[in-house]
Amino acid sequence: MSLLDIEALNLRHGLLEAVRDFTLSVAEGETVALVGANGAGKTTLLRAIAGAHRPSAGTISFDGVDVTRVAAYRRVQMGIALVPEGRRLFPALTVEENLLVAAQRRRPGRWTVDTVIEAFPMLARLRGRRAATLSGGEQQAAAIGRALITNPRLLLLDEVSLGLAPLAVEDVYRSLASVIAEGATVVLVEQDLTRAAAVADRVVCMLEGRIVLEGAGSELTREQITEAYFGLRRSQALDA
Ligand code: ATP
Repeated sequence: MSLLDIEALNLRHGLLEAVRDFTLSVAEGETVALVGANGAGKTTLLRAIAGAHRPSAGTISFDGVDVTRVAAYRRVQMGIALVPEGRRLFPALTVEENLLVAAQRRRPGRWTVDTVIEAFPMLARLRGRRAATLSGGEQQAAAIGRALITNPRLLLLDEVSLGLAPLAVEDVYRSLASVIAEGATVVLVEQDLTRAAAVADRVVCMLEGRIVLEGAGSELTREQITEAYFGLRRSQALDA
């Protein structure tokens, strides 16, 4: 059975339809990468799954339960955790304090401050540092740790590599790959198409709020994804 079922979802910002008639199922243990140009609706979709954006139509079910109208904090308790775009750590708190704040809503499970630091070794020497003083990569590791420590069944990651130095992206993805290899269920938004295809079981390409291409990360070609990303037909792409 699917862990996440999204059915005919519509998400609006005022009059703007950011996500339209969107249907997607994610199986337990699966990693799905959402790709698409700026404004395709990826962030709005992740926020809706986490309970931070109320749908105008459609349903979101988690482990067979309709959570469309369930509050965000309840979804954390049910096992949905979002790593938001921009990380959103508490800047005045230390890394450890940021983790402990999230741990208050912790479900039982293997993730604790110590196991998060094992998975993201760069955090070990930063435990007592205020979040505001961290580099982008360090903040991203702390933000992923903050989500993991709730012991989610579904991890939602928005733009993990955005604004990070290439080495920091490598570090964060190395740790993430080990989390994924342990069987986590993940939906991630990633601008880097090569990385998205490498890390994900399935790539879902969005354009103007709709799915325009979907397939196994190992099977879709970079050309197919690029065409869908920009909304080009094959002939237009070849002419360009
Ligand atoms: P990006 O990579 O830029 O974050 P995205 O695919 O995540 O893009 P969204 O951020 O979900 O896309 O935006 C989808 C559409 O909704 C865009 O047209 C965007 O301008 C609009 N939008 C997003 N947030 C708001 C908001 N708070 N108020 C009004 N419109 C918004």
